[in-house]
Amino acid sequence: MTEQPDNHNIYTHFHARFKHGGTFIQGTNGQARHTYIDLHHRSAKYANLLTNLDLQAGDRIIVQVDKSAECLFLYFACLRAGLVYLPLNSAYGQDEVTYFVGNAEPALIVCTPAALASFEQITTPTSCQLLTLDASGHGSLVQALAAGDFSEKFQSPPTNADDVAVILYTSGTTGQPKGAMVTHGNLLTNTQALHQVWHWQSDDILLHSLPIFHIHGLFVATHLAVFNASPIILLTSFNPAEVIELLPKATVFMGVPTHYVRLLKHGGLSHQSCQQMRLFTSGSAPLLRQTFDAFEAASGHRIVERYGMTETGITTSNPFDGYRKPGTVGPSLPGIESRIVADDVDLTDNPDHLGRQQVANGTTGNLQIRGPNVFKGYWRMIDKTQEEFTADGFFNTGDLAQRDNDGYIAIVGRSKDMIISGGLNVYPKEIETVIDKLPGVVESAVIGIFDSDFGEAVTAVINTAPDTTLTEAQVIAFMKLHLANFKIAKQVYFVTELPRNAMGKIQKNRLREQFSKT
Ligand code: AMP
Repeated sequence: MTEQPDNHNIYTHFHARFKHGGTFIQGTNGQARHTYIDLHHRSAKYANLLTNLDLQAGDRIIVQVDKSAECLFLYFACLRAGLVYLPLNSAYGQDEVTYFVGNAEPALIVCTPAALASFEQITTPTSCQLLTLDASGHGSLVQALAAGDFSEKFQSPPTNADDVAVILYTSGTTGQPKGAMVTHGNLLTNTQALHQVWHWQSDDILLHSLPIFHIHGLFVATHLAVFNASPIILLTSFNPAEVIELLPKATVFMGVPTHYVRLLKHGGLSHQSCQQMRLFTSGSAPLLRQTFDAFEAASGHRIVERYGMTETGITTSNPFDGYRKPGTVGPSLPGIESRIVADDVDLTDNPDHLGRQQVANGTTGNLQIRGPNVFKGYWRMIDKTQEEFTADGFFNTGDLAQRDNDGYIAIVGRSKDMIISGGLNVYPKEIETVIDKLPGVVESAVIGIFDSDFGEAVTAVINTAPDTTLTEAQVIAFMKLHLANFKIAKQVYFVTELPRNAMGKIQKNRLREQFSKT
């Protein structure tokens, strides 16, 4: 099955590493087994189907489905055909999806059968095609594949390293989601770097319980296993009991901190059940030191914490064979430059100074990244893209960080106000915009409050008009109508005034202080 990479299409590089007859998806826990040959043949068939549907390189495909092997076949088909894969969190509701469809202008949407009617309302048959795929791998997409006699061979069109492979939506504090354009070159270089630093072994088996609409589950977990031609135990979602049961069959597990908290809470972890495990990694949100320590005590493993984001891929990691320092995300990966700069540099006189004022070790500043891993820009938002890059080509992560004398970076906060709840990003502005529509609301401020399970719990603080009888239950019910579940406030507080600074901006740090004590 060896075919030398002849262009920059990342799939060509994956394929060159497949092993004859090797397992791709393990037939564990009711899943059907698929080999890497199946992946190669089935993704070719899908690529031929998509081409037959008149989709051309560069066209976007929105995919909002449950996690399944079939969805992965479709994903690899899109890579092979040079189509831009655009996965959406399955929790997004109609309001959110309407924006994504309008912004991305997809040529095809693949959704669950249950969501079909809702997608039909927001698209017209001439604007885009609609196909379905359900959690068990059935739907009109699979029927269309079966109905045509599609070849198991597919020749990828020539692909450049900076051709867009995937668009992932991420919001800023402005609340308007931005489509981060991630290229074939970004994905390949980041996969190669992580493959090297995490010392992937030929007999590694990945236990995969992350969602595949996000960088963590798709690019980090899936790509690394496929680049290593490793078997994947594919779980449709994270369930602590199931993970603990399957750990003895795996060697690599990747999770968000909430997963580790829940594995510990379950109580079933032991040194013995984790003895053949080689690597546990954590990322997407800060891993508390107490979790790191408790996990080491329970399992005998020190979690490798790494840091990254949609726009940059993974940029730092604690070492596999060096000291794993709790509370840090390790040094930069090979080939990636990171610097921490002060935010009080006066840019007006000399724009060239933009971001060049690096702070001393041990001092907090803004983390900036440059390298082949950094994305191409925000889809159809040239201004927003320019705002986030410095004159000398570093990307502003929006994270506040410190570097120690060993070169290890610690993330100490976020300059933007994003909340990370259970490993998922929540953008306050978007939620505030919904709450502010409620009669009786003068203004709202949404903040994250420390929560030992979710990391941060979404909390709404609302200034209401006098004589308003609005209740917490009413606010939550209204939020549920307009927002995905993970964005719904865990608690709501009513106040008569929101604290503001001299410039009139709401001081969220003061709210966080006040309500974390409540
Ligand atoms: P996303 O683009 O969804 O991957 O979210 C990226 C953001 O997650 C980063 O900008 C950080 O704020 C946060 N993040 C990722 N990994 C870590 C980590 N290990 N520690 C702290 N924050 C993290």
